[in-house]
Amino acid sequence: MNKKQAIATPSRTKEILEKFHLRAKKSLGQNFIIDTNILENIVRAGSVDKETTVIEIGPGIGALTEQIAKQAKEVFAFEIDGRLIPVLEDTLVDYSNITILHEDILKVDFEKFQKDHLTDLKRLVVIANLPYYITTPIVMHLIESSLPIEQMILMMQKEVAERLEAKPSTKEYGSLSIAIQAYMDVDIAFTVPRTVFMPQPNIESAIVRLKALDESPLQVKDESLFFKIMRASFAQRRKTIWNNLRRELDDKGKETLLREAFENSGIDPSRRGESLSIEDFGKLADALYDFGLRDF
Ligand code: SAM
Repeated sequence: MNKKQAIATPSRTKEILEKFHLRAKKSLGQNFIIDTNILENIVRAGSVDKETTVIEIGPGIGALTEQIAKQAKEVFAFEIDGRLIPVLEDTLVDYSNITILHEDILKVDFEKFQKDHLTDLKRLVVIANLPYYITTPIVMHLIESSLPIEQMILMMQKEVAERLEAKPSTKEYGSLSIAIQAYMDVDIAFTVPRTVFMPQPNIESAIVRLKALDESPLQVKDESLFFKIMRASFAQRRKTIWNNLRRELDDKGKETLLREAFENSGIDPSRRGESLSIEDFGKLADALYDFGLRDF
């Protein structure tokens, strides 16, 4: 049995940082968790068990990695900061089910990773206390990857969590909410006080659960057109979708066509983007497609 004190305590974290002469790098979003209870709750939120393979992003000095490894079949942890690799090899030496990969998560070739490491996969979950400066690129990169991710349990800035979860006609709702909710069911599992971090960040944090949807609400003829018109509709939030889309038309002579496409879709052009659901944007995108309006 491992009798060492958990990594996620103030005294052990200080001791590790001193032993390796390390200072947390702000530019890499390094805020280490020093509360074991929070980490256990994160692992529980992902229902991690001995059939679960976990991908972790940014293991830091190994606090969360250790708690995942206790429950999971295996953990693959991607860390960009080369200074932390020897630290992790030391702090996690007692766990045989952890693989540390010194890589930028945004540059990982997931197809190759899957072939090399996930041959005997039963269930795949992503867990991370994310580096906040690249939260959105990381989430999009994972959603767009070919990995069969069942769910993700992610710590992020509370405001970003609220945007991911937001419903139409709220001030948090926007293109990010739609881009994520087109593929994942989102809920904020719990919020986290600043006091559990070392060093303490200036912002509030929350744990978000993203579960892959069996069926996407996004059923359209042309996905890339859907995203173009959806993003254009939020370009100026206070303007109507009509004004936002008309501005984007390559050929102003096509305005009549645009009006007809709106009529055909059943979507009132005087609405604002923030009031449209994914299905509404889908209807509009398909009508534009049918009327040959595909260059936005
Ligand atoms: N998991 C640790 C914990 O909870 O205490 C540390 C979390 S800290 C908020 C974020 C971690 O992500 C840091 O270790 C940082 O070096 C790492 N990181 C930052 N950018 C990264 C990237 N592009 N790819 C992989 N890891 C990254």
